[in-house]
Amino acid sequence: KKKVNVIGAGLAGCECAYQLARRGVPVRLYEMKPGKKTPAHVSGLFAELVCSNSLRSDRICNAAGLLKEEMRLLGSLIMQAADATRVAAGGALAVDRNAFSEYITREIRQNDLIEIVPAEVSDLSIFQDEFVVVASGPLTSDVLSDAIMEATGEEYLHFFDAAAPIVSAESIDMGYAFFASRYDRGSDYVNCPMTKDEYEVFYHALLRAECAELHEFENTCVFEGCMPVETMASRGHDTLLFGPLKPKGLIDPKTGREPFAVVQLRKENEDGSMYNIVGFQTHLKFPEQKKVFGLIPALKNAEFLRYGVMHRNTFLNAPQLLDRYYRLRKNPAIRFAGQITGVEGYVESTSSGLLAGIFTACEYLGKPQPEFNDDTASGALCAHVSGAISGNFQPMNINFGIMQPLGYKIRNKEEKNTRIAERALAKIKTTVREYGL
Ligand code: FAD
Repeated sequence: KKKVNVIGAGLAGCECAYQLARRGVPVRLYEMKPGKKTPAHVSGLFAELVCSNSLRSDRICNAAGLLKEEMRLLGSLIMQAADATRVAAGGALAVDRNAFSEYITREIRQNDLIEIVPAEVSDLSIFQDEFVVVASGPLTSDVLSDAIMEATGEEYLHFFDAAAPIVSAESIDMGYAFFASRYDRGSDYVNCPMTKDEYEVFYHALLRAECAELHEFENTCVFEGCMPVETMASRGHDTLLFGPLKPKGLIDPKTGREPFAVVQLRKENEDGSMYNIVGFQTHLKFPEQKKVFGLIPALKNAEFLRYGVMHRNTFLNAPQLLDRYYRLRKNPAIRFAGQITGVEGYVESTSSGLLAGIFTACEYLGKPQPEFNDDTASGALCAHVSGAISGNFQPMNINFGIMQPLGYKIRNKEEKNTRIAERALAKIKTTVREYGL
């Protein structure tokens, strides 16, 4: 009997294998550990959490909380493990990382339908007439990266992620900002002016801010001109004023003059609901980003949909390659799941593994593929990776900005998010019923 081949027993791969087996589909799960480990993995267990032990908020008015609740409704193994091994962490779902991975490893190893192959996969053509799901993660091994490039085209696989933070448009205080392009060439940018005093406060806070710890393999930057904003600041008091905070050619309509400094925000998506902070790629810790970038007056209440990052990350230019069922368009027998698809984070990687498992199982069994649209958090991630959301493609955490808006206004953000979440959970329940999931 043909098997479905899943590459990588990480968060996405284990969830995918479990979803397949749950539906009676036999699986071959390849994992190169413990024989060979990525620079971030240390244990021999499956579904290892390589850094934090937090799966983020557990409240549905938070998008990561909603995504987890959707996964619970869809029968997620990773969520079962997380709920069984949780440790006290306020409104967040944090786990005992060892107990969490042990739980998942045990469930996978005990499953009669899952054959575990302890080997590094280096060639995708060996799976000729069988389905394959590549879930090899942000640190996919070199030989497999080469094989993926062979299947997708070299220009579609990235190895480094250097991104500036993204804020929601509605959280920008336009009382302090103005639309304009430099030298009066249109109004494409939101400009956030600063006085000399505001700049001094911001500059010194930036110099003092705490950076994330870097692994040795992450301490190099492969792009020209992608210096972290804090490194640029450390070169001298005025360096930023000649770089990303340059006010030249920007006239504040409120004063009729060039401000002392200007931070520019550029549209991240076509409908302008998200903006990125131009030139602000950074190593700063996430809470530090909120604190320091919040000193820019127009961003004092900014909602960060994605924090800035600079790290090693193997990911596909997915909108060019994948459909919304995580299938490679030019060879639909190959699917991708997890961080490699351009979702970002433990929970998001798991969600894509879960859906890739359901989709593959349905296809294997000759059943219709269930539809997950962007009115659910799970579906919004499919839409993000398959290019339904226009704009510059970057790995993305789940956030309400990539989900379908309610269609009516609610002023209170928590209430608005709760309504979106309730709509999503109702939709998931209907889909589970309709497709017998
Ligand atoms: P993984 O969990 O990495 O699983 C991939 C598996 O594939 C691994 O077990 C690997 O050994 C195996 N593999 C790789 N190549 C092959 C091959 N050729 N053959 C067979 N097996 C192979 N996200 C957060 O939400 N919070 C964090 O704190 C966080 N910290 C991170 C820190 C680092 C250093 C990195 C790199 C990423 C971090 N992430 C974090 C992002 C991401 O969510 C996690 O990496 C997550 O584990 C990704 O899940 P995954 O299933 O896609 O990949």
